[in-house]
Amino acid sequence: MKAVRLESVGNISVRDVEVPEPGPDDLLVKVEACGICGTDRHLLHGEFPSTPPVTLGHEFCGIVVKAGDAVRGIAPGARITGDPNISCGRCPQCQAGRVNLCRNLRAIGIHRDGGFAEYVLVPQKQAFEIPLALDPVHGAFCEPLACCLHGIDIAGIKTGSTVAVLGGGVIGLLTVQLARLAGATTVILSTRQASKRRLAEEVGATATVDPVATEVVEAIAGPAGLVPGGVDVVIECAGVAETVQQSTRLAKAGGTVVILGVLPQGEKVEIEPFDILFRELRVLGSFINPFVHRRAADLVASGAIEIDRLISRRVPLAEAPGIITCPAAAGEVKVLVIPSCG
Ligand code: NAP
Ligand code: ZN
Repeated sequence: MKAVRLESVGNISVRDVEVPEPGPDDLLVKVEACGICGTDRHLLHGEFPSTPPVTLGHEFCGIVVKAGDAVRGIAPGARITGDPNISCGRCPQCQAGRVNLCRNLRAIGIHRDGGFAEYVLVPQKQAFEIPLALDPVHGAFCEPLACCLHGIDIAGIKTGSTVAVLGGGVIGLLTVQLARLAGATTVILSTRQASKRRLAEEVGATATVDPVATEVVEAIAGPAGLVPGGVDVVIECAGVAETVQQSTRLAKAGGTVVILGVLPQGEKVEIEPFDILFRELRVLGSFINPFVHRRAADLVASGAIEIDRLISRRVPLAEAPGIITCPAAAGEVKVLVIPSCG
């Protein structure tokens, strides 16, 4: 079968590899769709650790074609979405229920072969059944949505909360929608590209801000801003120093800041501890998707999340290396790899 292989840092190509054989607890899944994520670019450049040679792709959905002897409750023909993050279940963090902080975390598409291929092996405990009637491309959104859902859970949004989301990539645009579903009545998104601001308003943002043309903190939290004094919750989804710095200044006293965006390891941002103390801010990290994949899959299946407008392109496996090698094109939100096309 064809697979998109990271052979070593900086070296990615489509290769012919053997179709894997399921072990006792595995499902062999025919991949229908797999999303390209910023992390795939970080893996290519060695900015995020992986164990090449490995097939990339951690946002996948497909049909079970074969099940190992110990698999129960799911059979060939079912459609599943995969939670790529495999925790060990034995380390102190896992035993305390913090599986996302597992010391031995291994991910499908990072440490073992992933979904940019015709077939992928998925341990049954990482597989979540979704309806056959669903557009399989929507299934590929369950993984990024699950990461946003964890951030939303941590944020503690209440009915009527005011929220600012910084960064209008797929994570920001899904977070806007989840914030509205969680009960926020004001959701402001800041992002540089006009097309993404328009998209945000289409999917539920009540207002948008252009961080190039305006001073974001003033425009949102200033005396004449959209929410004078600041918002209840700020969710950083851009992963750049500038927006992290804006975050604490955008939160009102007693407010919450959630960091979803990934800054390069070692990068430093200036913050004022006095401000965090004196205004009693909660500044929280949100890392991947502990125990939320089922809810994310059900949300996708419910149709409550606008997904079609977030899809920029569908491409065959052969085009994936070129796309991962280049920075995201202007206006592009999510590119999906469809192994059966091309
Ligand atoms: P992305 O497409 O790169 O989104 C980031 C967006 O931020 C860009 O689209 C960009 O849009 C915007 N941006 C950049 N600089 C900005 C600025 N100064 N002010 C406002 N917006 C700015 O990536 P993504 O897939 O949505 O992911 C977002 C972040 O979440 C990434 O860092 C990713 O690694 C991280 N992530 C974290 C988790 C987790 O578990 N915590 C899971 C998945 C992804 P414009 O060009 O319009 O500004
Ligand atoms: Zn563990």
